[in-house]
Amino acid sequence: MHVLVTGGAGFIGGHLAAAFLRDGHDVTVLDNLEPFYAEGIKRHTIDVHREAARDCDVAYRFVEGDVRDESTVTDLVADADVVVHQAAQAGVRESVDNPRKVTDINVDGTVNLLQAATEAGVDRVILASSSSVYGKPRSLPYDESHPTEPVSPYGVTKLTQEHMARVYTELHGLPTVCLRYFTVYGPRMRPNMAISNFVSRCVNGEPPVIYGDGQQTRDFTYVDDVVDANRTLLTSDAADGEVLNIGSSDTISIQELAETVRDQLAPDLEIVYESAREADAEHTHASVSKARERIDYEPSRTITEGVGEFIEWYQANREWYEPLVRSS
Ligand code: NAD
Repeated sequence: MHVLVTGGAGFIGGHLAAAFLRDGHDVTVLDNLEPFYAEGIKRHTIDVHREAARDCDVAYRFVEGDVRDESTVTDLVADADVVVHQAAQAGVRESVDNPRKVTDINVDGTVNLLQAATEAGVDRVILASSSSVYGKPRSLPYDESHPTEPVSPYGVTKLTQEHMARVYTELHGLPTVCLRYFTVYGPRMRPNMAISNFVSRCVNGEPPVIYGDGQQTRDFTYVDDVVDANRTLLTSDAADGEVLNIGSSDTISIQELAETVRDQLAPDLEIVYESAREADAEHTHASVSKARERIDYEPSRTITEGVGEFIEWYQANREWYEPLVRSS
């Protein structure tokens, strides 16, 4: 199978492309190396892909380009069996500061891709959506039938993307699946996220900084679980036309998370609190029953286990990763 991974030099797309290569698929990555955070992390990911392709004797191609560029996307989609769409301007805060840019990439880029995928007649388009589509939860945990009232421009773009996918399925018969990821973490994660931030500060003897009172709770998902869900869907039509929550179903408060990291790395540090700055829901908690039922999805780690693994990975990769994290 030939898989096109948009945003494949990024955190999640990078793991997906590597896993598909190891599974024996040919992979093309389309990514514009958007300078939202250090490009070196993405360059490292592309090297990981090249090595995996060599080891597994499969074809790998990296194309530096934009999902909004119609001719590039049309050409690349024409050769693909399945499209896995991860390219986006991620980050709730970024979307508050730059709503036009976020809408342009996340909505127009997606339409460009869906149009090309329809014309090419690909087997399936799997799209990265987000728990941000829900907004303020009315009950916890919540399943996919929970009302969607995003509280950030980012959440609105992800919900629009889902509706576009549904409309392309209904109008043109294009098989699409939208996966609502709940805060994803793991090796090579984006630097501007709580876990990498806490770890990098504590490793360097600096106190973790919490924005707000730390009582916000989050469902954190280990990146391997996101990979497993996408991997299953490459060859399965069990969720075509659907949205699925992809979370761990395990939650932790930001304060407990900071304490967990601090206690492992620098127990004497005092946590620092600064004023809240995100436009996101106070609490997230996924019900993953639908993903379990449709694709046998099973979260593999508790948050404490996953954070421990991330700390181990961070320490083993500190030399190249840390300067990039701290320069982002
Ligand atoms: P990321 O920023 O690491 O990866 C996104 C990639 O897309 C980057 O490599 C970037 O260079 C690329 N990109 C951005 N604009 C592009 C454009 N116009 N053309 C081509 N490439 C472009 O982010 P991530 O954390 O890996 O997120 C991947 C996907 O998952 C995104 O769609 C994001 O919205 C979604 N998501 C992520 C999380 C999370 O916690 N990380 C949670 C929910 C949803």
